[in-house]
Amino acid sequence: MTDDAASTLENMRTQMERAQEYAQVTENVFTRLLHPERTLEVSLPVLRESGEEEIFKGYRCQFSGARGPYKGGVRYHPSVSMDEVIALAGLMSSKTALVSLPYGGAKGGVVCNPKELTRNEMKRLTRRYTEGIRRMIGPKMDIPAPDMNTGPREMAWMMDTFSVYEGHTIPEVVTGKPLELGGTPGRVEATGRGVAIITEKILEYYGRSPKNTTVAIQGFGNVGSWAGRLLAERGANVIATSDVTGGIYNSDGLDTHDVAAHVESSGQIAGYDGDVDPISNDELLRLDVDVLIPAAVSHSITADVAEEMQADIVVEAANGPTTPRADDILVERDIPAVPDILANAGGVIVSYLEWVQNTQEYRWTLEEVNADLERRLANTFDEMVEAYRSYETPDLRTAAYTISLDRQATAHAYRGLFP
Ligand code: GLU
Repeated sequence: MTDDAASTLENMRTQMERAQEYAQVTENVFTRLLHPERTLEVSLPVLRESGEEEIFKGYRCQFSGARGPYKGGVRYHPSVSMDEVIALAGLMSSKTALVSLPYGGAKGGVVCNPKELTRNEMKRLTRRYTEGIRRMIGPKMDIPAPDMNTGPREMAWMMDTFSVYEGHTIPEVVTGKPLELGGTPGRVEATGRGVAIITEKILEYYGRSPKNTTVAIQGFGNVGSWAGRLLAERGANVIATSDVTGGIYNSDGLDTHDVAAHVESSGQIAGYDGDVDPISNDELLRLDVDVLIPAAVSHSITADVAEEMQADIVVEAANGPTTPRADDILVERDIPAVPDILANAGGVIVSYLEWVQNTQEYRWTLEEVNADLERRLANTFDEMVEAYRSYETPDLRTAAYTISLDRQATAHAYRGLFP
């Protein structure tokens, strides 16, 4: 029995168990796929501006390395825990396998509130965290990247700290770097672009197009705001968005670029003074829209929300936004949800393209990056739909996990046991 209060880790395991019956995976290998290979907890003393020393807690989890180097972001958030980092590392393993990248999965996190840290404190924290995990990471071993509240600035500090210890510059140890340090064109907006591409694909699947569809986006950070802007460019009407500070609504469509500029400069939606009405987060999740995009924290679509939701389609931009009980209700109510491991895979796909460019010391154009991203996502979407039809899985998530489990199990089978 699953319940809404279960942890992200329990939810991830439930999602995998639901796919187990359709996948070709032995019991032993399945057990290995449910558990992380390695975890590290680090204690990070950081000098605050006050002159006091504060100890922060950091984690890195390498969930699975069967298909290649470990890969996954680093998040800074007060709610980070070892359990959550393990779950998110597991999601990364499933994601990289689903979109056929030659990677395993990892995740890292630091328990902190970035809003309360100055730039210098963030720098010291990031450098200390990088030192703490540096024996675990490396361009062929484990490649960190941005996640919640981290971006090119933090990746530059991580790359620099790692390189200082190695004695020479190693850009390919992290992805999501600034362009001048070996970052790739298109990485900043990649996750949001992927969400927009996948939204267009699922609409096409139902004989529709983004033109004039109404969209509500929970969360307007990097992922939500880029998804919103790029969907608006494709003709969609983004009528509502929200974050922890508040929500805004306009039935004729928000000016997504203007809202994004406001959020970028102030760090929040509250205080936006465009032509909008306020809307609560609970109302946003229950709005009568064509597409609902959760792009914030985990567990936002609970059973209650699934019961009362009026959206036709859900596209999961966040990691782990839908609980298993909510999934059951969405199936009963015939509301398709494109799972996170596909819908938000644009970020790690372009991370891979950045890493490939770094290892070849060659720079692609934005057009090349975007075309490659679109091709990979479109192919995987078609594979997922094909698996959904041929295995007759209850939902798209189970179909996606079935493909992913098969790929991971095949890698394990070829490699065999050590010793
Ligand atoms: N943090 C992103 C994710 O959850 C990107 C990870 C990466 O680029 O390695 O997929």
